[in-house]
Amino acid sequence: MANAERAANGRSSQGAEIGVIGGSGFYSFLEDVTEIQVDTPYGSPSDSLFLGEVAGRRVAFLPRHGRGHHLPPHRINYRANLWALRSVGVRQVLGPCAVGGLRPEYGPGTLLVPDQLVDRTKSRVQTYYDGCPLPDGTVPNVVHVALADPYCPEGRKAALAAARGRDWEPVDGGTLVVVEGPRFSTRAESRWHAAMGWSVVGMTGHPEAVLARELGLCYTTMTLVTDLDAGAETGEGVSHEEVLRVFAANVDRLRSVLFDAVEALPTGERDCLCTRALDGLDTGIRLP
Ligand SMILES: [Zn+2]
Repeated sequence: MANAERAANGRSSQGAEIGVIGGSGFYSFLEDVTEIQVDTPYGSPSDSLFLGEVAGRRVAFLPRHGRGHHLPPHRINYRANLWALRSVGVRQVLGPCAVGGLRPEYGPGTLLVPDQLVDRTKSRVQTYYDGCPLPDGTVPNVVHVALADPYCPEGRKAALAAARGRDWEPVDGGTLVVVEGPRFSTRAESRWHAAMGWSVVGMTGHPEAVLARELGLCYTTMTLVTDLDAGAETGEGVSHEEVLRVFAANVDRLRSVLFDAVEALPTGERDCLCTRALDGLDTGIRLP
């Protein structure tokens, strides 16, 4: 049973070092989960944070779409989500998501750990450093972070090792293209994405990755293919029911891999490119 507790100014007496952004299926079986509400300068995150322990590591779970899945991908407050996680102490984030496969060999049940990202969203705020004043009067400067390698190399290693440890051979690398949604792609769009050499298509991986980088957080995604995207199959195209069915069929083993990945994430001082994202940049604001 979760204890509800209000965390003033995003501070919690009981923090976490690792964040997991994903469905409620990932933490609902944990014992001693503490629910806290966190406010941010950007508004409210998708839901409360649910703090628990996995393999001795403190983890904050955040349901990306809110409880009951009421937020479509384009209405998720991504800035508040990443800020809230950082404010309770999180420095490494795992953000698993469901995707469509863009190649016939990436059928339902494929686990792919991307190493590249393409943004085809249209309406999403994707920076903290926009020159707009925060409620406390501080003003973020306009700065530009590097995103050549959008995912944490250490997090990717942990995710790949965790999948192999569960006999679920993952696809190591590939490009996740993120579309605006909430509709699925047309066949023409899907064929175009495939022709560009991209691997899987989703709706939430952007701007999560870039906002994490802007806060100096390590971010890794693990994508579960729930369907062949419209261009890669010959039937009716993707349906919401089919996506939910395949996700439900895989959620148990995905949770096992996720928890093993949590355990395998580096401990102590981080030493990866994510930690150096803000080196030499004057952001003008204090990160939580
Ligand atoms: Zn990192």
